[in-house]
Amino acid sequence: MIDTHAHIYASEFDQDREEVVKRALSQGIDRILLPNIDLESIEPMLATEKQFPEVCRSMMGLHPCYVDANVEQTLATIKSWFDKHNFIAVGEIGIDLYWDKTFRAEQEKAFVTQLNWAKEMNLPVVIHTRDSIEETLTLLRQEQDGSLRGVFHCFGGSLEEAQAINKLGFHLGLGGVSTFKNGGMDKVIPHLDMDYVILETDCPYLAPVPHRGKRNEPSYTELVAQRIADLRGLALEEVDAITTNNAEKLFSL
Ligand SMILES: [Zn+2]
Repeated sequence: MIDTHAHIYASEFDQDREEVVKRALSQGIDRILLPNIDLESIEPMLATEKQFPEVCRSMMGLHPCYVDANVEQTLATIKSWFDKHNFIAVGEIGIDLYWDKTFRAEQEKAFVTQLNWAKEMNLPVVIHTRDSIEETLTLLRQEQDGSLRGVFHCFGGSLEEAQAINKLGFHLGLGGVSTFKNGGMDKVIPHLDMDYVILETDCPYLAPVPHRGKRNEPSYTELVAQRIADLRGLALEEVDAITTNNAEKLFSL
């Protein structure tokens, strides 16, 4: 199994990072993909990748919540990292209209700029949206030239939104939200095209049931897989095989 979205480089894991990775391995989660968020996260992310080279792979990008008036400068620094290191994806990038709309125009510009890097470098993109699926889809439709691929991470939307995302060639990252009783995903997951589903935790955030509200970690990827298996009438092994294959292809692992 692959946790395709885990911030295990965050300070929440400073006390027990090695145990967290061991626990993941013992649950059959043998690869953990690390999305970048801003300039400060680069160093701990690369250190974590170096500590667990068989398990962890890094991405590079600027998260929409960290876009501010300095966006041009920040993007130039982020871009320069692609010349210094091998990254598996451009991410995480996107639009977030939940927390703060002050830099909405800058967010959109940063998103489009990074989509174009992905095209140039032939890399997948890892997309964060919050209250912004429609806005994000509009920009993606403008930029999709047939070469863009990626994932809407932490997907918790409707079946119609899922289908619109798939139609553009994009995957859905299912995580803890899929296990929430009031999340509505029990109505959506049975009808999803499994060719576009990958697993994630987004740890340390959004822990799945029965750990909801506590620190999340990669070993809980299995709880998400089990939830999908239950809702689809599949064996856990089948969900593992399908989603692992999807993630391997998407990220060229
Ligand atoms: Zn994230």
